[in-house]
Amino acid sequence: MAHVHAEAKPVSRAQLTAALKATRGKISAEVAGLIEAGFLAEEGLAESDGGRRSSLLGIPRSAGLIVAVDLGATSVDVALTTLGSEILAYRGEPADVRFGPEPVLERVKALVAELLEEQGTGREEILAVGLGLPGPVEQTTGLLTVPPIMPGWDRFPIREVLLREYAAPVFVDNDVNVMALGEHWGGVGRGVEDMIFVKIGTGIGSGIIIGGRLHRGPQGCAGDLGHVMVDPDGPTCTCGNRGCLEAMAAAPAMVARAERCARDGRSEVLARIVGEGGELSARDIGEAARRGDACALDVIRRTGGLVGQTLASVVSVLNPSLIVIGGGVSHIGNALLAEIRSSVYRRSLPLATRNLPVVMSELDDIAGVVGASVMAAEGVIAVRN
Ligand SMILES: [Zn+2]
Repeated sequence: MAHVHAEAKPVSRAQLTAALKATRGKISAEVAGLIEAGFLAEEGLAESDGGRRSSLLGIPRSAGLIVAVDLGATSVDVALTTLGSEILAYRGEPADVRFGPEPVLERVKALVAELLEEQGTGREEILAVGLGLPGPVEQTTGLLTVPPIMPGWDRFPIREVLLREYAAPVFVDNDVNVMALGEHWGGVGRGVEDMIFVKIGTGIGSGIIIGGRLHRGPQGCAGDLGHVMVDPDGPTCTCGNRGCLEAMAAAPAMVARAERCARDGRSEVLARIVGEGGELSARDIGEAARRGDACALDVIRRTGGLVGQTLASVVSVLNPSLIVIGGGVSHIGNALLAEIRSSVYRRSLPLATRNLPVVMSELDDIAGVVGASVMAAEGVIAVRN
């Protein structure tokens, strides 16, 4: 069953037999048991190869539902998916994690209730909940531990609160790990054994897939790219250290630089936005750069250069075969991606970058909910197997 989920599309018994290196009889018996239990169903026929067309097996909607939540620093995305991680219903809206866990989780519950109603079903169908959070999550307990941008969330029992609400197991990880899982399962990282997913938004982080599996490290802190020091004399970071990549290159740092451009009269476009009373966003910077604004382009290049420089060290250590860039700031467009790419290529050994695509996330805004669903579904299936 784990294999059917991993394939992300219906498979035949023959494919299962080959992939799992088991006998046909054993696969047939196992499949029969899973169909009996409602976890697999016949879903159409395979392409004909001249002989009798074999039937394809998939995970039916009736097996149960997964609630997938991707909480960012400034947004919340909630999806209802099948156990096969197919999205049935989805909502995304702005949120502010600084309000603390109670109001944010109340909003999550309200969104889940809306989606369940939309699907004409109730919480009794929920098999598990998957949740991505924008802070360090201790793997053994599922607790956020001293999350720099989430005051009030430190060791808040999120798992217990949601378990009580839905009477279903709750799987928690940091948002970037969850996005990496999503992109690896159903995006541009499909079938790639070794990849790095980098999120650039309010913060910066990365999810590392090694040998086809997410590498979390014993405490769950692996991939914390944003707090790698890039300048010992740099500004103070939310974590308390100086000159972290995040403090120098994430959205707040970009906005601060762009505001200086506007104030100093170096950018008419940015000054106009500020003058209209608007707060600058990373999106505005991207738009200004597209219109040829030199200051905005400079801000983007600086972020791209710093991210690329830090990634080059990761490339030297891990030798991945794919780097995927996601998160809100990645929407800025090609200038950012081009700068990251050239910075990685310039600073890594030629052998390591000979075949190393640096690309945008394919799942984009839904990478988090897809990954949260995959994490929860794998958890449910692991117990079942
Ligand atoms: Zn830091």
